[in-house]
Amino acid sequence: MPGVEKRGVPRDLPAWFQQSLDCVHCGLCLLQCPTYQLFKVEPDSPRGRIYLARALAEGGTAPSVVLKEPLEHCLDCRACESVCPSGVGYHLVLEGARETVAGQVPPRFKDRLKLFFLDAILTRPRVLRLAFDLLAFWERTGLRKLTRLFLFGGLKRMESLLPPIPPKKERRLPPPRSAPGGKPRARAALFTGCVMTELFGRVHYDTLRLLLLHGVEVVVPQTQFCCGALSLHAGSRERAMELARLNIEAFPRNVDWIVFDSAGCGAMLKEYGRLFEGTPLEAEAKAFASKARDVTEVLVELGIETPPGRVELKVVYDDPCHLCHAQGIRSQPRKILESVPGVELVESADPERCCGAAGIYNIVQPEISERLLDKKVEEVRATGADAVATGNPGCMLQIRYGLATREGKPMEVFHPVEILARAFEDGRTRR
Ligand code: SF4
Ligand code: SF4
Repeated sequence: MPGVEKRGVPRDLPAWFQQSLDCVHCGLCLLQCPTYQLFKVEPDSPRGRIYLARALAEGGTAPSVVLKEPLEHCLDCRACESVCPSGVGYHLVLEGARETVAGQVPPRFKDRLKLFFLDAILTRPRVLRLAFDLLAFWERTGLRKLTRLFLFGGLKRMESLLPPIPPKKERRLPPPRSAPGGKPRARAALFTGCVMTELFGRVHYDTLRLLLLHGVEVVVPQTQFCCGALSLHAGSRERAMELARLNIEAFPRNVDWIVFDSAGCGAMLKEYGRLFEGTPLEAEAKAFASKARDVTEVLVELGIETPPGRVELKVVYDDPCHLCHAQGIRSQPRKILESVPGVELVESADPERCCGAAGIYNIVQPEISERLLDKKVEEVRATGADAVATGNPGCMLQIRYGLATREGKPMEVFHPVEILARAFEDGRTRR
């Protein structure tokens, strides 16, 4: 029938609507959903949000602030996708619905602030660098300590979320390096992201060292951009596509892998193909996405070398949502930790439940985020571990903050590759 596609979906309905039709309303996702677990109401569940999104697309409901709220409460953690028997691509429905609402509901002051923060600071590497240079100055001169005395409410919380600013040399991109001796086993390009470089640049250096130790030649494109995930999740597809296009142009074609060490960025890089579907950049974007690999995937694929040193540490691994639910990566980070002599790996009660970081969710939805963090801290402390390992900068920040602001023994937070790199370093210094 002209104008109508299979399953009776009119052509002018958005593509994400197709995904929402796959939902059979079984409700299996409800108990996995962190917001449903908290509020026990349908609009704060995946199924409820799918209903709302469908009503929105079909014109059964007008985009409004009332509709916006349950969509904003969603962490986009994708835990619902991991259990959905119908394979509903829930994140596509959410992104589409958020975009529709953003295009039709006038932004509130806090929305404008969020978009300004994303568009003007976070996704512009030079501005972000300058911002962190200023933060480093603020800390170095003792002004940070002084300011703390006057902060309250949301600002006090934001200050506590920010860890000590790393030294400048750690906040610079590592140089490209060739694997020592002979022909490299593979060639990789390192994706560094935005905040990851400024706050956890040391992880990039460890990733680089480990890849070299495993015989991989590493190029590091010196001009690269935020992956675009934060913009996409905020309903700004245009900006997300612009950032993705810049990254596709910045990365060399002649590499085997595009390696990342941030789960959130990685999930987005793997989606570049879908983002450009039906555009002239589709083939290139698909080629880029097909090479994207988490560092733990690569090391396991290469076969993890046993480190010559030891790290005596009881570690609990916490799964970043965008690694386990979005990319299906669960065993590799654990294998990395198990390969380190001296490490005792333990499991918490629910390592796949979101810690409440979820991009900038912990800033824009502080109450829900704090409640989720309470549970997370309680569960990791119950394991008796000395440290938490997790592979996403947002989770690292959030869990560090949670541990520091709640009762209990001090625990450190690491990226899994930091612990493996430390064992190699220990072996080198013992020689
Ligand atoms: S599990 Fe999947 S099919 Fe079932 S209600 Fe949730 S989204 Fe729908
Ligand atoms: S993405 Fe997470 S918070 Fe959102 S509906 Fe799914 S399980 Fe719930």
